Amino acid sequence: MSGAAYESVIGLEVHVQLATRTKLFCGCLNVYGADANTNVCSVCTGQPGALPVLNGFALELAVRAGLALGCAIASRTKFDRKNYFYPDLPKGYQISQLERPVNGEGSLRFVNEAGEERVVRIARAHLEEDAGKTMHPDGDRSSLVDLNRAGIPLLEIVSAPDLRTPQEAYRYLTELKRRLRYARVSECDMEKGSLRCDANVSIRPAGATELGTRTEIKNLNSFRNVERALAHEIERQTAVVEEGGSVVQETRTWREDEERTETLRSKEEAEDYRYFPDPDLPEFELEEERVDAIRAALPEMPDVKRARYVGSLGIPEATADVLTADRDAAEWFDACVAALPDGGDAKGVANAVTGVVLALANDQGVSIADLRLTPERLVEVVGLVDDGTISRQAARKVIAELDAGDEAPAEVVERLGLAQVSDEDALGATVDEVIAAQEKVVEDYRGGNENALNALVGGVMKATKGKANPQLARELLIRRLGGAGG
Ligand code: ADP
Ligand code: MG
Ligand code: ZN
Repeated sequence: MSGAAYESVIGLEVHVQLATRTKLFCGCLNVYGADANTNVCSVCTGQPGALPVLNGFALELAVRAGLALGCAIASRTKFDRKNYFYPDLPKGYQISQLERPVNGEGSLRFVNEAGEERVVRIARAHLEEDAGKTMHPDGDRSSLVDLNRAGIPLLEIVSAPDLRTPQEAYRYLTELKRRLRYARVSECDMEKGSLRCDANVSIRPAGATELGTRTEIKNLNSFRNVERALAHEIERQTAVVEEGGSVVQETRTWREDEERTETLRSKEEAEDYRYFPDPDLPEFELEEERVDAIRAALPEMPDVKRARYVGSLGIPEATADVLTADRDAAEWFDACVAALPDGGDAKGVANAVTGVVLALANDQGVSIADLRLTPERLVEVVGLVDDGTISRQAARKVIAELDAGDEAPAEVVERLGLAQVSDEDALGATVDEVIAAQEKVVEDYRGGNENALNALVGGVMKATKGKANPQLARELLIRRLGGAGG
């Protein structure tokens, strides 16, 4: 049988660290990169008698995430103990949610690599605490443990096995991250560990409805590696089946250096977690008014924004994608649209934001929201381009100057002498000079060489030190020389 006889089935388990100030059940700070064991207390190190108190803001962020993912929010929720022994887990159990997760079923919509709209179901998204970190210093026979991370709030988002290709997994993750960042739930930075992903994958004969035996891949440190690891794992499973064997349910690890997955532990070694309700954290009600208030405070989600940009503002899809990739950029653009006069050039503004302003922020290593340039000023500059006062090229300079000082656009144009020569008489004289000086090029043009016209426009631009309105220069040249071959 050929490889195309099989289809792959993928489900992702994503952990995100919630952007709270403090941990899930104690007042220790939730910060990245602090000295080892400096953000710890009797609760998060599991001292006898210490009692957990739920962080209300963590709960709010979990609900916010649930709403951003279209999840049904539980009316009652509770915490359970998941028991296992590991040096990074001081209590001997992790507080998690088994039976009544804060967020029930939801879904995530995205466009896949074939351009098809896909809706992937989310099975649940529950709260739990993070574990500490063990370290094994090189050349040392001892191991170290850092409990700063122990007790940091996590949301585990479990997808249904609805993804079909590694590329879809990549796109699902990208959209998930975009939504969670819009909702300001988490940084979702895989490099800093604030987003982690375990990938489950199986294969089955194409057209089958039953699920095949899956493996789970851990230690994935980027979306690209999730995609790569899945592709390799699908290849491996397919080879196993084609050779007459069967896939063994197990946990595998991605060896980035060797571009392959390898067995970490088999199903037989899988732990029994002996879950039971945490007696220190009684079940409680999530009031509807509280959920409604959180819903009301959610920003417009990126897919809705994108549809609005394309549909009612006439912005090209690719530009709308760039604008909505980041909430700060989208809101900065929204502020531009708000400042736009009636019938203003939204598309021109969108191009300036994606083509110039985002690059400016990027060069400075800051968010677009922290630029000195304001949306109102940018709209003025685009207006100057549209009415022919300055060229697109000059607009770039003006924008950079606006971000460096407190001048108004018109002042920058004046100071740098960037106003275009759009006056026919003034430009006509220069056009005549260029025609007289470039006999050979004029001859080429008259002989039918259209490119020669560009050279002549270039000549006019050079003679005016870039200030000529290139459109007008072209028109005047054609008027004087007649059409090509004329
Ligand atoms: P567990 O309780 O062992 O963690 P779950 O049923 O919660 O198992 O599933 C964990 C993840 O594995 C989910 O994202 C789910 O979609 C995915 N999954 C389950 N079965 C399969 C399968 N046969 N093939 C691919 N993914 C699967
Ligand atoms: Mg699981
Ligand atoms: Zn603590």
